[in-house]
This record gives sequence, C-alpha cells and structure tokens, in this order.
Amino acid sequence: MYIDQELCKKCLECQPVCPMGAIVLKNRTVVIDLEECVECGVCQRFGICENDAIKQVDQIPYPRVLRAVFSDPLQTHESTGVAGRGTEEMKTNDVTNRFTRGYIGFSIELGRPYKGAYLRDLEKVVKKATSLGAEFSPDNPVYPLIANHETGALKPEVLGEKVISAIAEFLLPEEKAIVAIEQLKRFLNAELDCVATMSVISRASDNGNSSFFTSLKEAGHDIYPNGKVNIGMALR
Ligand code: SF4
Ligand code: SF4
Repeated sequence: MYIDQELCKKCLECQPVCPMGAIVLKNRTVVIDLEECVECGVCQRFGICENDAIKQVDQIPYPRVLRAVFSDPLQTHESTGVAGRGTEEMKTNDVTNRFTRGYIGFSIELGRPYKGAYLRDLEKVVKKATSLGAEFSPDNPVYPLIANHETGALKPEVLGEKVISAIAEFLLPEEKAIVAIEQLKRFLNAELDCVATMSVISRASDNGNSSFFTSLKEAGHDIYPNGKVNIGMALR
C-alpha cells in the first residue's frame, strides 16, 4: 500500500483507520511506513480518502504478499482456500475430524489484539511446539511456511514479514497435553515480542464428558468451554 503524493492533500483523515499505526507524517508528507504496514487493505477499503490517494501496487511481491494473505480478510490463502487468516475456527475444524479422540488440538494465535506479529515469532512457536512432539495440520496456512519439520524452522525469507495475526494449529497426544500447556505458557510469556493466545480443544466422549476437562481443572486451570455439537457429521 502507498500514498500517491500527487493526490494527497495531507489532511491525515486516513491516519486513525490504520490498525498498525503505519500511516505517518514524515518530512511534511503523509506516507505509509512499509515496515509497520501489514497490507490489510483497511485504509483503502474504508473509503476515507476523498482524493483516492491511497493505492495498492498491481502485484505485491513474495514474500511481502504473505502480509496480505494473513491480514486482509478478503484475501484467500492458496494453501487452504480459506479467506482471512486462512483457517476456520477450531470448533468448525472439529467438524472435519481434524481433532480426533486421544489427541488434544492446540491453537496459538499471535498478534491479536494489539500490534500484529512478525513471522519470526511464529517460528519460535513452531520450533517450541515441534520440540514437544506436535503434529502440525497441513490444512493450516502456517504449514507451507515450515521449511524443516524436524526443527520447526520456517522458510528464512518469511521471517521479517509482519502480519495482523497468524494461528499455529497442532495436535499433541492427550497424555502429553497438560505438561505441554505449562511449558508453552512459560515459553509464550518469556520468548515472544507480541501478544499470544493459546486455546485447546478436546473431542467429548459419547456421553458428553471430557476427561481432559477434568485434567485441566485438576491442574488448576479455569476453563470456559466453547462447545459445538455436531449431529451426524463426525465419523469418530
Ligand atoms: S486521507 Fe487521503 S489526502 Fe488525506 S492524508 Fe490520507 S491519503 Fe492524504
Ligand atoms: S494496508 Fe492496513 S496496515 Fe497498511 S497502511 Fe493500510 S490500514 Fe495500515
């Protein structure tokens, strides 16, 4: 995204609509700070500029285009065919049997709310989860970014890209999950330069109970279940 200086009247009406604070006054011109901009498209879509001075390039080059596919809800991830952040909510993914019995689904979202996240922070999360034995979902847009599945290293050229939000989704065996939650909590608090939210999902038994919920409570976690009842769709 950029501002056409021939058209810009320097009114700064566009400044408040940018969630990243990327529209700035510099040397008496209004410009978009390309380091901060996540290519979310909000400034242009909002229609705030009466002079039509906010422009997008014809084609955002790789790897910068990753900013747009992870940040602009109207862009579709090629890898998953899902718009926005490229993955459905966990409770929707439950319908697809992504989370099977005996495994706990984890989701770690980086960047929201607040100031976005660099993919180098995502790499830290993927590496940590990989070291705990995580199995990453191929149906998640983070998966194609992983260059080394043994270490969790991402493709080096993507690390400097900033996005509004990225969600790492993975599975761990139920017996490892409680210990992993504690380790991940400590890790997220200590190692990241962005906001992170961790969620877990467990498939209920046929009688509607979840042994994992009991384990979570015993481990001292307050839980606020956000359930979804699938009727006739889940196979196991
Ligand atoms: S709203 Fe348009 S004219 Fe005003 S500062 Fe922004 S880009 Fe320039
Ligand atoms: S594309 Fe998004 S992040 Fe970039 S300047 Fe516009 S509103 Fe801000």
